[in-house]
Amino acid sequence: MENKIRVRFAPSPTGYMHVGNFRTALYAYLFAQKNGGDFILRIEDTDQERFIKGSLENILIILDWAGIKHLEGPFTENIFRHVSPVKCEESKKYPGIFNVGNFGPYIQSERLDLYKKYAEQLVADGKAYHCFCTPERLEQMRNEQAAKKQAPMYDRCCLNLSQEEIAKKIEQGEKYVIRQKIDTDGFTEYEDLIRGKVKIKNELLDDQVLLKSDGYPTYNLANVIDDHLMEISHVIRGEEYVSSTPKYIQLYQNLGWDVPQFAHLPLLLNPDKSKLSKRQGDVAVEDYINKGYLKEAIINFVALLGWNPGEGSVQEIFSMEELIQKFDLAKVHKAGAVFDIKKLDWINAQYIKKMSVDEIYQNALIYLKQKEFYKTWAQEKGAGDEKAKEEFIKKVLTVEKDRLAKFSEVGENNKFFFQEIKYDKELLRWKKNSDAETKQALETAKNVLEKISDADWTLKNLEEKLLEAAGEKRGDLLWPLRAALTGEQKSPSPFEVAWVLGKKETLSRIEQALKLF
Ligand code: GLU
Repeated sequence: MENKIRVRFAPSPTGYMHVGNFRTALYAYLFAQKNGGDFILRIEDTDQERFIKGSLENILIILDWAGIKHLEGPFTENIFRHVSPVKCEESKKYPGIFNVGNFGPYIQSERLDLYKKYAEQLVADGKAYHCFCTPERLEQMRNEQAAKKQAPMYDRCCLNLSQEEIAKKIEQGEKYVIRQKIDTDGFTEYEDLIRGKVKIKNELLDDQVLLKSDGYPTYNLANVIDDHLMEISHVIRGEEYVSSTPKYIQLYQNLGWDVPQFAHLPLLLNPDKSKLSKRQGDVAVEDYINKGYLKEAIINFVALLGWNPGEGSVQEIFSMEELIQKFDLAKVHKAGAVFDIKKLDWINAQYIKKMSVDEIYQNALIYLKQKEFYKTWAQEKGAGDEKAKEEFIKKVLTVEKDRLAKFSEVGENNKFFFQEIKYDKELLRWKKNSDAETKQALETAKNVLEKISDADWTLKNLEEKLLEAAGEKRGDLLWPLRAALTGEQKSPSPFEVAWVLGKKETLSRIEQALKLF
């Protein structure tokens, strides 16, 4: 059991699930699955100011939605299915949430005694110390450092307080934190599984706060204690922790513990290469779900943000099973990964193409029902004829399917299916054709279409008959017809549009257009 691979996803419950966090969860999960390891969820809720109610539940919902299943950690009754309950206890702080697994609780605010114990042990061993500096003093210190263009760093003012001084201050009720006493000699280095060797001069490391005055640990202390006690073998997390890791390594060493392996994932970037931010677009997984992207496409897209199978592979579409099979931390890139929404659209479109019209209908209907053009159309059709409405929408979907990037787009580019159109004589004209030629084309189309019965009103038939009538001069016939049916510069072909609209509506639109001549 010694070398069992165990990885964790350790989000903070601070609101929505950021796509960057979701990627961390996905990579850790893929790595665990690929290597027969355990995937653990830990909630890092020690920053009380950033805590947002409901976000723990949201984390569970999103992971469950994605099929990223944790073996240990917090669960709700509903999100419980895949776990064989070992030790299970209801959370004291979050009603309805259960800590499941032998290394719990998995919620940091429920582990405060542990952090305190180790912080005190570090103090007793001379590896940490009490610091009574007030926020005002620290601010002044930082301002002075900034004025001298120095990096902000604690000046060790409290490092050499005597036992008596410390006891007295505590007795007088002075607030204090516990700081790590960095060993400033030499270097600390580690082998990052993605970035290779990272080596930092110890002199540059700050005596960071381990335990805050409210008794809560900082991330600096809690990540080390928990990763050790939860027997985490590989710490997979964001790039922002690369340069702090040497401080954590010193803590592992101070506590006499083995150091886990580290893999720091690249940043996510906006297309202009700045750090991915809300200002330039959506950053919450929920936003993409709500916009009608498919789960498979979101996962596929996120997996490619910083990873690909390499070795000249051009594969872009991966199921979860394929990702598990192919994922390799060594192939994760060091450089930041650009979040390119066009790529998500493309991937989503690939998945939609493979779906049946019935499946697309099931997914798209809720979006369609929110749109004004649809509401008006449905109202005009009347409440009774649900079957006919469904059939019509499915025809629209048949035509749109191959051009659809997401469900929320259904009908958006082809509103003419649902609305009356405005006729524009100039739009009906093919190239420099005269009025007479345009009118003639519309009449020919009308004659051809009138002869096709409702029963024969198939896409194939419409195409055959209209192409036959057009002969060599396709544009002369098909452009005015298409424009008469859609009122648009661009649209699907006239055969497709006529097929969706049906015989009656098609002929009526042609007649409307003819009135202009
Ligand atoms: N709670 C940290 C965060 O949300 C997680 C860091 C880690 O994975 O260790 O950024």
